Amino acid sequence: MTPRLRTLALLPLIGLAACRDEPPPREFDGATAFGYIERQLEFGHRTPGTEGHRRMAAWLDSTVRQKADSVITQRWTHVTTKGDSLPLQNVIARFNPGAEKRILFLAHWDTRPTADGPQSPDSSAAVMGANDGASGVALLLGVADVLKRAPPDPALGVDLLFTDGEDYADFTDTPTDVLIGSRYYATHQPPGPKPLYAVLYDLVADKDLQIYQEGNSVTGAPEVVNLVWDAARDLGYGKIFVDTPKHVLIDDHLELQKVGIRAIDVVDFDYPAWHTPYDTIDKVSGESLQIVGDVAVALVRREGE
Ligand SMILES: [Zn+2]
Repeated sequence: MTPRLRTLALLPLIGLAACRDEPPPREFDGATAFGYIERQLEFGHRTPGTEGHRRMAAWLDSTVRQKADSVITQRWTHVTTKGDSLPLQNVIARFNPGAEKRILFLAHWDTRPTADGPQSPDSSAAVMGANDGASGVALLLGVADVLKRAPPDPALGVDLLFTDGEDYADFTDTPTDVLIGSRYYATHQPPGPKPLYAVLYDLVADKDLQIYQEGNSVTGAPEVVNLVWDAARDLGYGKIFVDTPKHVLIDDHLELQKVGIRAIDVVDFDYPAWHTPYDTIDKVSGESLQIVGDVAVALVRREGE
């Protein structure tokens, strides 16, 4: 075949490619976000008061400083009902910190001291939290990478809140020793108007990902649930983001709802390794983070239009 003939032969193919409805390029990088899960697991479990927690706190603080426009670190000591003193730290990574119109994404970064889930064979073990802890953090860090590369619309501010002390104790018996960081944030919010809405990401990297709507989100902020599930459907993720409520959960979003923030929980609670010693790297995937990350970025871009 001569060069001239080859050029002619390619022409119909080029025409076809131009006609096809190409999806927009992906901004979120699931593989990089998966690396953020691996990095967190190198610290061991991140139970408040332990060495792993101290090292993770330092890494998280320095990592977001490389990505965000400004960072607020909240440090305080929480005394538990048993009398333990826990050094805790929330981190708030801010993009366009001066913008009046803001949205908030959050995730907890601590892990649970006891593997006392219904399917756990050993409740004395600590939870490694590949999904319960590390996945939400990895998602927010992936969003931070996107916003560093391509900032949100100047009129839109985005805050990424990493909460501590979400999972320290029993949710029924000692409710003041869980959701500690979100409760602290609720009463120590940065100055300025409240965010338009908030989305909590928890357990978002299960290899077998299916995200049903969460009951307290549907009750507390149904319009935000619709916004997120619409964005997922528009991206072709309607089979992953299932359009019906299933579980009703006590999670960080409730502390924000209590102070008037329209907050919802994006969570895949059908996770057999939940609160077991098996919540490890082999249960999570970058592909799952990609899906939830695409939806999160779409929310930012949509609000900036
Ligand atoms: Zn948990």
